[in-house]
Amino acid sequence: MSDHDSFSVALLEWFDVHGRKDLPWQQDVTPYRVWVSEVMLQQTQVDTVKPYFIRFMARFPTVELLAQASQDEVLSYWSGLGYYARGRNLHKAAQYVVNTCDGIFPDTLDGMMALPGVGRSTAGAVLSLALGQRQVILDGNVKRVLARYFAIAEWPGQLRTQKVMWSRAEALTPATQVNRYNQAMMDLGATVCTRSRPQCAVCPVSQGCQAFVRSEQARFPVSKPQKTRPVRYAYMALITHPEQGLYLQKRPPAGIWGGLWCFPEFQDKAEAMKWVEQKGWDCQDDDEWEPVPHTFSHFHLQIRPVLIKIKTERAVMEEPLALWYKGGGLSVGVAAPVSLLLDKFFKHERSEGDQE
Ligand code: SF4
Repeated sequence: MSDHDSFSVALLEWFDVHGRKDLPWQQDVTPYRVWVSEVMLQQTQVDTVKPYFIRFMARFPTVELLAQASQDEVLSYWSGLGYYARGRNLHKAAQYVVNTCDGIFPDTLDGMMALPGVGRSTAGAVLSLALGQRQVILDGNVKRVLARYFAIAEWPGQLRTQKVMWSRAEALTPATQVNRYNQAMMDLGATVCTRSRPQCAVCPVSQGCQAFVRSEQARFPVSKPQKTRPVRYAYMALITHPEQGLYLQKRPPAGIWGGLWCFPEFQDKAEAMKWVEQKGWDCQDDDEWEPVPHTFSHFHLQIRPVLIKIKTERAVMEEPLALWYKGGGLSVGVAAPVSLLLDKFFKHERSEGDQE
């Protein structure tokens, strides 16, 4: 017996005893019922799907009734399942089956994949589970099992990894009993080879499992590679006037921290000093503080704070999108690092005051 045969034999024996055989869509099996269940099961767990499936089938027992319903009504039966494009596609696909295929579901892979919202794995699942065809599936559960069994060291979302997985899945799929085999693969992934803490001690295929042999179950499937975020730098000028307080500006409505209040931002310290000079303010002293890191979804920002103490004989002019803040309750929104720098500034002020 080849390794591939022993995999399916062990899995099918396990399925006889432990597999799920009383799910609602496993009764009165038809392509319509299996298709609805498979679409519901995309991105949603079995236990969540069960009551939705039962309600859906009570209202839309045939593809014709589903096709005739309004989209609003179909979506009301989908409400709470999430990923509503699935519900909209289901409705469109029912109309396609009724109007283009005389109400009979396609019995080929290409035919099934022509239905909106049906990919290769869903098509394979419907054809194998409902019609007993030898079709390969590769849903999330199967991907996890294969990634561990073969210790596939690349993220399954990558195209080339998917090709590897499809060919592994194809090679393992037996010539007969494919409906039971596919259900068994889904059950193994859902109940034994679970995302966290797989139960390898009771797994029927542990003997050949590379991740198990190496005790590296947690390493597979490999996670999506994190993009390295670029680092950007900005000087923030904490301009302080002895009577008026700290200078804050309102940021433009769009962009980073849009509409929040912030310290003026510059490319470098020289630019900050020039800006202060152009305002007609006399710089008495300046001091660079430790950088403050802040991470956005697409870059890291290294904020270089520079404290600039100004003095002027005349009162500082009010400006429309600026304010002088003396501490205490702040009635405007500020970005997180600005809030942190404000705290630091006022602590620094207090400690200087204590020393005088
Ligand atoms: S041995 Fe463990 S990691 Fe390997 S397939 Fe079975 S449950 Fe998954």
